[in-house]
Amino acid sequence: MQLVFASNNKNKILEIQSILPASIKILSLEDIGCLEEIPETADTIEGNAILKANYVTRNYGHDCFADDTGLEVAALNGEPGVYSARYAGEQRNADDNMDKLLKALSNKNNRNAQFKTVIALNIKGKQELFTGVAKGEITLEKTGNKGFGYDPIFQPLGYKKTFAELSLEIKNEISHRGKATQQLINFLRKSS
Ligand code: IMP
Repeated sequence: MQLVFASNNKNKILEIQSILPASIKILSLEDIGCLEEIPETADTIEGNAILKANYVTRNYGHDCFADDTGLEVAALNGEPGVYSARYAGEQRNADDNMDKLLKALSNKNNRNAQFKTVIALNIKGKQELFTGVAKGEITLEKTGNKGFGYDPIFQPLGYKKTFAELSLEIKNEISHRGKATQQLINFLRKSS
């Protein structure tokens, strides 16, 4: 079985391929000749994951999965959410995004937040959605230099360290993306 991962991130593709049975071959967007940017114009995380997976299935005729992630902050009514990558502007700068978020929370007591990843899978004419959530708090300042995005200001529930201070192994075990990916893998293993 061949399955496209609507991504050009070679690490993510290799990682998923290494966990799946050899009977499932994961292809990248490059592998299928999809070189254009796929529109991400939905106003929800689910919507963007579905848009990307449907784009590939509709235009290239492949079974496919796509993921989308956002950081939802309670005191900001779920913002930045689907706009997490470009919260502080189209230049998509992680430091600027974190600075803007810390400023927005400077007069708030409630610092609860969650990362949410949705994976949309189109397979054999059906669509499945898998959601992974990591709950935690936004810290008062940036700490740690691992990871990416908002990791230096996100402290997962039950830990005294930010994602940027935890090893990748631990982050993968407890993260939004790790949980959603595990659900996808369980589903594919069962149905292969
Ligand atoms: P994407 O859908 O995986 O591209 O994620 C959208 C944006 O959410 C990224 O550009 C980051 O700003 C943020 N983000 C996603 N996953 C993580 C994470 O694991 N740690 C920190 N920030 C993340």
